[in-house]
Amino acid sequence: MRVTRRGFLGASAALGATITLGRYFGSRKFNPQELFSTAAEAKGAENVQYVKSVCSHCAVGCGFLGKVKNGVLVGIEPWKDHPINRGSLCSKGASIAEIVNCDRRLKYPMEKKAGKWSRISWDEAMDKIATKMAEIRKDYGPDSVMWMGSAKTSNEECYLFRKMAGFWGTNNVDHQARICHSTTVAGLANTWGFGAETNNVNDMRHCKCIFYLGSNACEAHPVSMKHAMIAKERGAKFIVVDPRFTRTAAKADIYARLRPGTDIALMLGLCRIIIENKWYDEYMVKTRVIGFEDLKEVCKSYTPEVVEDITWVPKEKLYLIAKTLYENKPGTIVWAMGQTQHTVGTNNIHMSAILMLVLGDAARSGGGCQPFRGHDNVQGSTDMCILSHSLPSYYGLSEKAWRHWCTVWGVPYEEILNRFASKKLMGKPGFTVARWYEGAILPEDKIDQPHNIKMVFVWGHSLNSISEMKKLKKGLEKVDLVVGIDPHSTIASSLPERKDGIIVLPASTVFEKKGSVTTSGRQVQWRNQIVKPLWNSKPDMWIMQKLAEKLEEKTDLAFKKYFTYNEPEEVSEEFLSGMLWIGMIGQKPARLKRQQEYCSTFDIEDTRAKSGPCKGEYWGLPWPCWLDTHCGTPLLYDSSKPVKDGGHDIRAKWGSKVKKNKTGKHVGDSLLRGDHPVPQATYNGVKFGLDLSLTAIRQALAKGEPPTGRGRARIWAWNLPDPVPVHREPIESPRPDLIEKYPTYKDKPKFYRVLTKYKTLQQQRKNLGDKYPIVLSSGRQVEHMGGGAETRSCPYLVELSPCVYVEIHPNLAKEISVRNGDFVWVETLRGRCRVKAMVTKRVAYDKLRKIAFIPYHWAGVFEGKSYADRYPKNPDGTPTVALAVGDSVNIITVDGYDYTTQMQETKVALCKIYKA
Ligand code: SF4
Repeated sequence: MRVTRRGFLGASAALGATITLGRYFGSRKFNPQELFSTAAEAKGAENVQYVKSVCSHCAVGCGFLGKVKNGVLVGIEPWKDHPINRGSLCSKGASIAEIVNCDRRLKYPMEKKAGKWSRISWDEAMDKIATKMAEIRKDYGPDSVMWMGSAKTSNEECYLFRKMAGFWGTNNVDHQARICHSTTVAGLANTWGFGAETNNVNDMRHCKCIFYLGSNACEAHPVSMKHAMIAKERGAKFIVVDPRFTRTAAKADIYARLRPGTDIALMLGLCRIIIENKWYDEYMVKTRVIGFEDLKEVCKSYTPEVVEDITWVPKEKLYLIAKTLYENKPGTIVWAMGQTQHTVGTNNIHMSAILMLVLGDAARSGGGCQPFRGHDNVQGSTDMCILSHSLPSYYGLSEKAWRHWCTVWGVPYEEILNRFASKKLMGKPGFTVARWYEGAILPEDKIDQPHNIKMVFVWGHSLNSISEMKKLKKGLEKVDLVVGIDPHSTIASSLPERKDGIIVLPASTVFEKKGSVTTSGRQVQWRNQIVKPLWNSKPDMWIMQKLAEKLEEKTDLAFKKYFTYNEPEEVSEEFLSGMLWIGMIGQKPARLKRQQEYCSTFDIEDTRAKSGPCKGEYWGLPWPCWLDTHCGTPLLYDSSKPVKDGGHDIRAKWGSKVKKNKTGKHVGDSLLRGDHPVPQATYNGVKFGLDLSLTAIRQALAKGEPPTGRGRARIWAWNLPDPVPVHREPIESPRPDLIEKYPTYKDKPKFYRVLTKYKTLQQQRKNLGDKYPIVLSSGRQVEHMGGGAETRSCPYLVELSPCVYVEIHPNLAKEISVRNGDFVWVETLRGRCRVKAMVTKRVAYDKLRKIAFIPYHWAGVFEGKSYADRYPKNPDGTPTVALAVGDSVNIITVDGYDYTTQMQETKVALCKIYKA
């Protein structure tokens, strides 16, 4: 039933690299018989079916074939003509069959009572949950339930989850994107209209330069490297700037070691050199941008010497990077958590977009911005807005936005309004995943809602990816009920030290149900059900429908009829009718399934179908896909193509004239491209600066105009805390002198319902470097994913990566008398972790630069003490704790948060390390 170990290792050979099983297959239809070398083998495989599916471990969106025999997933095979990966998978993708069939999965609903775990039926579990919710609602109101959703569920399920929180009457609903790419959305949407990747991984083949700043793609998004390496073979330059010499850095033409948290200073330094040498794109800055003069002004103080002092990047190297970017156009910039998870995350992203605009690399093939997403459906779950500040498709929380969605849901607005504690709370962003526990543990007068959080859903979410884990643990211990819903047992079941008040429900894996998922490149793919749900697990949609039934029973609220669907496809049709704002309209399930069938007709170079029934369509119908006859938009803002062929322009989003002009410099500046005036209009009473009714969309398309108009990108984004980004020191910095010169922001009261401290913390810790001299950063490994509950349960992946470690430099190892593999303590102001030392020159330790690194996928150990015995055991005696456990770095990461989105800062904390 298993993939053989030999087969697995063959498929995942060379960590961090990709395998190119299908490169030579080109564009032709897949024939399963090709998989067998002899006729006898093929005959024996008569009962075998191959089901097309999409990997669940990151948002590159690799396809594979699930091999099913007699209803059992017996292995996986390459989907050789999949337009994104052409059969390639990384080590995680190659382990999927093992993860589905894993004996350590949570097999039945279980409840912890009087310190013991016992099996309960689905009906009993749902009854208990709904009864408790009804009680809480009566005693404290709807805001006392926190809904934490998932980036690993399908678009359909994400949409239903956000809808359900709305029907419950709260905005305390959020998910992982808050702590991975919320700053990408805010930074990009505030620059040019949409908060998503502008290009896609296939388009990297056309780059002349690839600038990895805050991305270790070789480990985090391995198959994207397949396209990047094609570009390299064609002569592209790789620039990698990273605090660590990563596996991606090993491929670089230019590598520079950066002090964590100084990306903006680096990019301002690059812009200054580009501007001084007149290497900028004059057409772009004159016709498609506002605020170039402001940028020039800001850049003046970022001389190469100043930048070197802030960032550690030598001035000669800075010049070389700027020159390489200029001489090798078009180039793209790639990032992941390295840029997003900072107190200045939104500014980092805004600055990356500015760099691409100045170079003229934005809005074209081979250029643009490539933020790579971690979970398979982070883009989709974000689009469905499991976010405490917005309704699906980024409509926000205004009355008009609620009215829009109430129309789609077929429910009177007043009915939903009455379910909220007040109209004010209906329009107020709720707690986020990053700091929800404060709602449970702080006194009621210290939070910005009437009562504490009393119950929490942890639905497809690994809590060890959240910082301040000590407070998080306390929050889980303080609430009345924790409900964990996941295919594997996550730390929701085991972290809290409590005798009762925990219910865990076994969700099916994504391969046991069907639905759509969206890649980082906005491409929507249909994922088929490979096998029926194993053991007693249920698809998330089923669980939500069951909950709706029970809530109707236990409260006086109507739920059931609003959540009655026979198939996920009916849910897709519903959200597609409402998601006009981002143009997610034409991705009908039937079209997605047709693309899957005719995948071989799509060209790997531009992802467009060149023949057959999909001719003209782009793979995944990337949004905006304006109508069900539209081909999708593979490159945002590329105005060189007609809109009907996937062309686009910068969104006219902020009206026609610059409104705020504190400096007086922007009076009369047009936000529109002069030759393309766009009317102001409303849709369903919602003022968007554009009429986004279907009629208006059709009219715009008939005229060859993008329905979102033709606007200008904003270098000067007046509504961001720094309209043009400037350097600000992290909360914990080894440089007190720079804290004085580049301080962080002032504290922010009532920020997503809770006071969030900035300057107070930074000032208190100004000299922390004396005691804690090393900058600790965290990140991803190629063998594991997210909180690691799935991958740490897979024997092959555990064999490849069996334990948590800290990367330390040989100089430090010598100083503290530690050898490779010895246990050390890594300590910060928040606590300490006991991990193994990996002695390596990937990190630095000298007079100037001191860095250490811990991967974040680990759990089951808390400050050196195992809590593996607190995980439930299945009734058949199988454990649900992962095969490998380890201390979680998020116990010790810093308590800093992005000033715009409350993204956590996991990349910069001051620590000390000593022998354990
Ligand atoms: Fe592809 Fe990402 Fe899955 Fe690896 S983890 S196979 S890169 S989708």
